[in-house]
Amino acid sequence: MTSQAIAAEPHGPEQNDFDHLQDEIIRLNKIVKVLMDRAERSATMQGSDFSIFQTTVLLEEQVRQRTAALEEALRENETITRALSESELRFRGLVSQSLVGITIVEDDSVTYANETFAMMFGCAAEEVVGSDPMAYFHPEDRHIVEESIRRRLSGQAKSIRHTVRGMRKDGNIIDVEIHGNVMEVGDKKALISLLMDVTDRVRAEREVEALQQKLLDQSIRDPLTGLYNRRHFDQVVICELARAARSGKPLTLLMADIDHFKAINDTYGHQAGDVVLQNFATSLRDAVRLSDVVCRYGGEEFVVLMPEVDLDTARANAERIRTTLRNAMPKGSGLPSAVTASFGISTYPAHGQDRDTLLRQADNALYLAKASGRDRVECATV
Ligand code: GH3
Ligand code: MG
Ligand code: MG
Repeated sequence: MTSQAIAAEPHGPEQNDFDHLQDEIIRLNKIVKVLMDRAERSATMQGSDFSIFQTTVLLEEQVRQRTAALEEALRENETITRALSESELRFRGLVSQSLVGITIVEDDSVTYANETFAMMFGCAAEEVVGSDPMAYFHPEDRHIVEESIRRRLSGQAKSIRHTVRGMRKDGNIIDVEIHGNVMEVGDKKALISLLMDVTDRVRAEREVEALQQKLLDQSIRDPLTGLYNRRHFDQVVICELARAARSGKPLTLLMADIDHFKAINDTYGHQAGDVVLQNFATSLRDAVRLSDVVCRYGGEEFVVLMPEVDLDTARANAERIRTTLRNAMPKGSGLPSAVTASFGISTYPAHGQDRDTLLRQADNALYLAKASGRDRVECATV
């Protein structure tokens, strides 16, 4: 073998191809050894192959270079392996210590779940793997989760986000916010989901909503009687007039005013007067339909909006209400034995087209009822 032959050798294998490098080093070492043996044996020979020594030196240099390359590649590999295992450790630490539950679902079964997920649903991480993902959701909400899985698998949605009711192993229900996406693994699709227990947040939101509803309710109700207040009446009457205009059906406004109420206050006291007002309000509400809107319009003055009720029906209704109310007072000491009221009625569209006209017409009719002796019903005239 000549130095040219060595130089002409094809390029060695890739530096990071350790097996090839190691094979080559072994092969080169063998050649070096053979050449050294031959050199020793022919050392005494005149002009013995000088080229053998040259070749040996070159080969040794090549072995040195290859060894260095292999060592470098090994060092690099070690660094990469260490970095990989460190980042995997970091990743695993992150996933296992994550505050959110993490699951991977493949072929309708959970193939991975972290500790947080298991804790969230009150079970062991081992029992989650292989389980049906639907088992963790409230039966009534499973269709939402199924739909989100379908959308992700079909490619309709890359990621999803929703809040559903989860079911813990102990049967307790929790609110769970799910963020999910989909990942291609080979020719399969894996669903990756992050789950957060938002039970406390949802409960707080519900409390705020309930409080807002309560405040809204308070803003449209009279605190003494619980009936709607004038503010509510003013809004509702506009809506009801518009509805009546669309449907072509009548709308009746009934105004009621307790007779000689000042005298009741004076005789029995203000507190007894309040009880009379409360009792009157309850009886009035009970005497009308659920669809009628009953409001305390002023001190001892009430209005009832009766949708789809014409004048004749309204008059008959008012007569019935009048007799009901005068017999409705509880028989108790410190309260008047009977309380009467006077009534005025106006009807849309016969007596007016707008709120103020209808109110004025009903008030005029009420004034007439008072002037005619009280405890009676009067209707507006066209
Ligand atoms: P009429 O038969 O003409 O309607 O006479 P009236 O005494 O009922 O009417 P008037 O308007 O003279 O008196 C109404 C009284 O209602 C005066 C007021 O002090 C009293 N009043 C208003 N609001 C309340 C309330 O919330 N509680 C009590 N106890 N009294 C009230
Ligand atoms: Mg009065
Ligand atoms: Mg009055």
